[in-house]
Amino acid sequence: MSESVSAGKLVVLSGPSGVGKNTICDKLVEHDRIEHSVSATTRSPRSGEVEGEAYFFLTREQFERDVTAGRFLEHAAVLGHRYGTPREAVERSIAARRLCLLNIDVAGAMQIKDSGMAATFIFLMPPDLAELERRITGRASETPEQVQQRLALARREIEQRQEYDHMVVNDEVERAVKEILQILGVT
Ligand code: 5GP
Repeated sequence: MSESVSAGKLVVLSGPSGVGKNTICDKLVEHDRIEHSVSATTRSPRSGEVEGEAYFFLTREQFERDVTAGRFLEHAAVLGHRYGTPREAVERSIAARRLCLLNIDVAGAMQIKDSGMAATFIFLMPPDLAELERRITGRASETPEQVQQRLALARREIEQRQEYDHMVVNDEVERAVKEILQILGVT
């Protein structure tokens, strides 16, 4: 058995808004060895999002308390909201020799990198930037200002893709998932 298969470790998945990270994550966790880390956030739940499944939804005060208590492995602010990876669940997952999947932004990913924890960093790229921009612009729930912020953030994140070990193009979900599983040595 190769090292990547026998040891628990982090799998950090980042990519711009609209690239399809959540869909890819849902597919990856269908594999027994892969577990998704549920993040905490101060943003409000979107329709259909379940507490403890999509996120742990916290008030700013609760989030701040957890930061002070050192309960996050990393945390960052994204478009005015705070997000953090709960440390304890990740450590349990690693101890159980699972692959713990973090769907987090670039700032958070760089904190994990600096921590020196064993991790594979994967950046998900859209096949076509113009299409990504259309998808972000087409989100009905957002104001024009929010759309502009999301586009600017997507461009900034894409500029940092070189920091990652692997770049995977999400041209087709099944293909991209297969490529990620290969990278992770999961069969
Ligand atoms: P959304 O609000 O659309 O669910 O997520 C917005 C961004 O926050 C996404 O890029 C997502 O990857 C990132 N994010 C989600 N959870 C975390 C986390 O725990 N830490 C960090 N740093 N980013 C996160």
